[in-house]
Order: sequence, then C-alpha cells, then structure tokens
Amino acid sequence: MLTVRNLVKIYPGPVTALQGVNLEVPRGMYGLLGPNGAGKSTFMKIVSGLLEPTSGEVELDGQDVLADPMAVRSKLGYLPQDFGFYPSLSGEKMLTYLLRLKGVEAPGGMKKLVAGLLERVNLSFAATRKVKGYSGGMRQRLGIAQAIAGNPSLVIVDEPTAGLDPEERHRFYRILAELAADRTVLLSTHIVEDVAVLCPRFAVISKGRLVAETTPRGARESLQGRIFEGTGTNEELDRLKNDFLVTQAILVEGQNRVRVYVGDGNPPPGFVAAEPTLEDAYMALVNEVDRKDPAPVAAGGTP
Ligand code: ADP
Repeated sequence: MLTVRNLVKIYPGPVTALQGVNLEVPRGMYGLLGPNGAGKSTFMKIVSGLLEPTSGEVELDGQDVLADPMAVRSKLGYLPQDFGFYPSLSGEKMLTYLLRLKGVEAPGGMKKLVAGLLERVNLSFAATRKVKGYSGGMRQRLGIAQAIAGNPSLVIVDEPTAGLDPEERHRFYRILAELAADRTVLLSTHIVEDVAVLCPRFAVISKGRLVAETTPRGARESLQGRIFEGTGTNEELDRLKNDFLVTQAILVEGQNRVRVYVGDGNPPPGFVAAEPTLEDAYMALVNEVDRKDPAPVAAGGTP
C-alpha cells in the first residue's frame, strides 16, 4: 500500500505543480490520469524518492519514503518517461549494466537473472540484438525488465504507451497486467484507453489537484443522462463549443459526430441522449463541470 498525504511541490518560478495531493493506492493496477502539465511526472518522481517535495508525506508499506529513500529503493521499480539507452549495447548487456547501476543482487548469477527478466518481458528472442534496432515497444519492455528486477512491491510507470503503435501498446498492456497480479503498479497516463483497459481504480489529476478517485464504472455512471450525441457542420461545432463542453468530436463519413455534456439546461436541437464513456467522464472531470453525482474524492483531497 502506498499512502500520500498533503503532497505539495513548488518549483522555482514559482510553479505550483502539486497543490496538496492525498491518495491511497492499493495492490494491483492503479491509474493516475491527467492532461499534460497536470503534475503526474512530478508526483511519480516524488513517490519514487527521486525528487523532494516542498511538503507532504509518502509511505510505502508503512515506511517513510522521503526520510529514507535508500531503504525503500529496493522495494520500488521505476520506468521513467524518457528511458536512457546505450544504443550500441545488446539488450542483455544493457540490462546487466542497468542492474549493476541499481545494485540489484543476483544470488544465482547475473546472467541467469538477466535471462529470466528478458523472458518475463518477452525479449529473449532479441537478447543479443543491439538496442538501437529495437522498436519502441521493445525498448519499453527492456525498461520494465529493469524496473521489476529485485521483485519490488511497487512499480511506477510514467506515460508508458505514448509513441507505441496499437499492437505494441496491447502487448505492453498484457505485461503490465501480469505484473499487477502480485504488487502495486502505479501507471501515469494522459491516455484514457490505458485506464479503461487496465485499471480497476484510478485517480484524475488536473492542475496539481486530485479531482477524482474512482472506478471506470463509477466515473461513467456519474454522468448518466448528461451526455448527448448528434452531428453538425464545422460552423455548428464551433458554436456548440461556446455553449457546451464538447467531450468528443470525430469525423464519421465526412460529418462531425459530436458528443456534448449537458448540465441542467436543454441539449442542442437534434441531439439524443447517449451512454457516457470514460472519455466523456474524463473530459468532464478535468474541465471541472458540476456532475449529478460526483465521484468520491480521496479523503482530505481538494475536490
Ligand atoms: P505531467 O507529467 O502531468 O505532464 P509535470 O509534473 O511534468 O506534469 O509538470 C507539472 C507542472 O510543473 C507543469 O506546469 C510543468 O511545466 C512544471 N514543471 C515540471 N518540472 C519543472 C521544473 N523542473 N521546473 C519548473 N517547472 C516544472
């Protein structure tokens, strides 16, 4: 269990990246969803013991992460957004190097440990290939291999699927889901599909504040009866954006198919009620509209 209390981070500037975040993250896969600039990376770096907060507390399994980052480091794996590589090394040499840097113990020998980790992330076939020939998805899997070395109880994954093609993304989802079977995996993302596919619970962060702590179903249900769908020209779409929160606008057969959030007023003419999606809920949350039945915010969080 990861517990975060009143986390505040003010960068020089000053830029307030986190404004007092409270969160309890149980075992399994947990999503931290928010737009770019919301404060996700800042949160992940602080929780990993890589960045000092301005104030607040972080506990992993009852141990104070901030007071003694070294003590908790062995319980924690981190896959950063920008994972550094030495492209002319082979996958197995790169991983060996990273594990040595991390100080991971290998009682059965480093070779065996590396081979086992590569197998776990489906990279055995490419162990001796140079990393510069790896696809984006293969690099991410190598990153996961170093993050899970030493069997940490918390794995932190920062924006892992940006830049992956759909097939690579789905392969990566499977590995993450497998990892979460017996530990906490905290996944930060701005991609709603990542959460829909993987996370039984998630938090939404916007402008450094936690705006919801909920389940995909709870988030959808909170918008019941408030999402309407219709079609419109580009000019009509521009007008709709002035009057409503447009949660989605996609081109279908050359026409704009538009979904809007409707508060207490009337829907646009010709629009019909639609089943809310997680994408609708996310748009409503980050745009701070009043919902019928707001998703619960974690204890002490600022709604
Ligand atoms: P996210 O990961 O959700 O995109 P970040 O945690 O990277 O968000 O950033 C949150 C806010 O803090 C942004 O406004 C960003 O510009 C700012 N920020 C991040 N890192 C720094 C830094 N080192 N110095 C100053 N401002 C920063």
